[in-house]
Amino acid sequence: MTNKTKKRKAVAVFAIPMACLFASSMAIAAEEPNYDFSYEMYGPVTVMIDAGHGGIDSGAIGANGVYEKDLSLQYAQTIGAMIQSLDPSISVLYTRYDDQVPWVDEQNTLDFEVDDLNGRTNAIMAMAPTYVLSVHFNAADDPSASGFCGFVKGEDASSQAVYSKVSQYFQEMGYSYDRGLMTTMDYPLQIVDMNMSSSMLLELGFLTNYFEVSQLSDPSMMNALCMQVARAYVDTIHGV
Ligand SMILES: [Zn+2]
Repeated sequence: MTNKTKKRKAVAVFAIPMACLFASSMAIAAEEPNYDFSYEMYGPVTVMIDAGHGGIDSGAIGANGVYEKDLSLQYAQTIGAMIQSLDPSISVLYTRYDDQVPWVDEQNTLDFEVDDLNGRTNAIMAMAPTYVLSVHFNAADDPSASGFCGFVKGEDASSQAVYSKVSQYFQEMGYSYDRGLMTTMDYPLQIVDMNMSSSMLLELGFLTNYFEVSQLSDPSMMNALCMQVARAYVDTIHGV
């Protein structure tokens, strides 16, 4: 999301919640959502990871040509795998497993963003995970803008604890800098607000900053960053 986009979205999302509540409940009543989930038994602690964007929505486009939707999927899957490697008792779920966003009828949608957000929200509500992590990357007109930031519910101490660990671990490895944790009281975001889970949208860095997107796209750096995010969740869950 760009800062401009964020402001526009903040206003738009603030106006939507009641409409979304009705739209979501009607969608559930009308037909079962068709995303490809396993409804198998899952453990007492569940982390649901949402790779931002997908399908016809590329998200931001990096200074090196990378699409946000592709990077968010790689990070989501790697973070999930690392959480399970650190503690196999933690169940990990995903909103999407590839480039498809099957909850949106891309040919006939009147508003992709609304349908997309409602589909993700429905998926999260259906699974009721302990934690939700929505993975995104930032973009700005200023190519020197850099850093990571997060968005959580104002009263959500668990996700606030996860973010402070992410920030600590990133800074220990010398990655970028902390732009701060914001609450959805100031920046309403449907993916964070419209569920009962401990939810965070994490912007891992700026794709429009050539140095930062080069770091974010580097496979070994990606693994290192994903490990820090996974550690932040596992340590928070373990009460470390
Ligand atoms: Zn995004």
